[in-house]
Amino acid sequence: NPLVITIDGPSGSGKGTVSQRIAQTLGLRLLDSGALYRLVALVATRADVALDDASALAAIALNLDISFLPAESGVKAQLAGEDVSLAIRAESIGLAASKVAAIQSVRDALLARQRAFAVEPGLVADGRDMGTAVFPAAPVKIYLTASAEERANRRYNQLKAKGESVSLPRLLEDIQARDARDMNRQVSPLKPAEDAVIIDSSQMGIDEVQDAILAIVDK
Ligand code: C5P
Repeated sequence: NPLVITIDGPSGSGKGTVSQRIAQTLGLRLLDSGALYRLVALVATRADVALDDASALAAIALNLDISFLPAESGVKAQLAGEDVSLAIRAESIGLAASKVAAIQSVRDALLARQRAFAVEPGLVADGRDMGTAVFPAAPVKIYLTASAEERANRRYNQLKAKGESVSLPRLLEDIQARDARDMNRQVSPLKPAEDAVIIDSSQMGIDEVQDAILAIVDK
């Protein structure tokens, strides 16, 4: 059976970048599960579906016409043939995604779709509940985290490098609010699987994190 490596953690922990690198290094597929929730949010927003309409949102999740195509920077998300990679990264869609992700029937509707990514030779699954709910039997589970201050700093530097003016205290507030929503929700709250290895990357560079995970995979 295919090797599944789960990488869960809060937003801004660097798991997206690290997951991409691990998948590339080991020649495995990549599942960006957050993108699925963002796609549901995008379709719902465009169709004016209320973000608490559980049955309409579950129907959207079940019927998503999406494909992920390899691209220079990881993967490109296509919705019925339209490239929505940029659209799903909008801050408003991230917020909407965290709302639809709190609905159990939406999560259930995405379960089979996520599990279908696990094909030979294997998969790196990036998300919040990959090790706890979607791939509970995965042989390698990582929980990647970093202090909220450090995650806010990294985001600040990214945005500044892009020439965007941002306030660090505001970013820290956003990250803390998102953490609270993801960790305190009733449905699949963010927490490490019991058998996950916890990596705190607050004092680590991206290469160091990558090496640490590859060392765990090799064991
Ligand atoms: O990781 P990303 O920021 O793209 O995820 C967007 C939102 O989707 C998260 O804030 C979280 O609420 C939700 N999510 C989730 N379970 C996952 C991946 C993402 O609940 N496996």
